[in-house]
Amino acid sequence: MKVILMDEKDPDEMYSEGLELLNKGEEADIIAAAELFRKAGEHDHVGAKRTLGMLYLEGVAIERDLEKAYSLIAEASVAMDPFAMYTLGRMYEGGIGVEQNDREALYMFASVAEMGIPGAEADAERIMRRIKERMVRKLRARPILNLEISDVEVEAVCCKKMMDAVMEGTIEVMDTYKGPDLVIDDEDRLTFLTECPFCGSKPKRVSKDKIY
Ligand SMILES: [Zn+2]
Repeated sequence: MKVILMDEKDPDEMYSEGLELLNKGEEADIIAAAELFRKAGEHDHVGAKRTLGMLYLEGVAIERDLEKAYSLIAEASVAMDPFAMYTLGRMYEGGIGVEQNDREALYMFASVAEMGIPGAEADAERIMRRIKERMVRKLRARPILNLEISDVEVEAVCCKKMMDAVMEGTIEVMDTYKGPDLVIDDEDRLTFLTECPFCGSKPKRVSKDKIY
């Protein structure tokens, strides 16, 4: 539990005061606002963390600090703040303050889309298309011989029919409680596969960084 000292204001109050200072147009005092957000953030105020993170990200009146921006926005995202989650998705997509990661970006956009935030679904679809295109290119470049899966996707296929199924998205890798598994995704039903339904190959787990 955080203890609020007698001379300090309530985090909600500090946050609203900070917002007022930011929204004063020409007279906005961003530095004073950032200080209030920092203090409110120390008391785990989610909005304050997100807003301070945005200020570090923009770097207008306070010096741009992408590491601080990432850590504050990620903390606000853990608390399921939709705007923080959306911004985090953008940071993952662009590799801003964090290593580029389309899958993390997709997770953020898809979660925010489920919360009904406009525009997020289109972002999720765009990233999904990109992940799929990259996977198709990768599978085409690898020998059709062994069925291999990493913890995120199919890395190599055993036969032409499996290639088609993976490209269509009917067969995919899903992370389950017992590790990544190959599944048939039928919209409303998941069927776990212990072998290729076409040629009988058993899937082998490999590292996603395996070199072919
Ligand atoms: Zn097969």
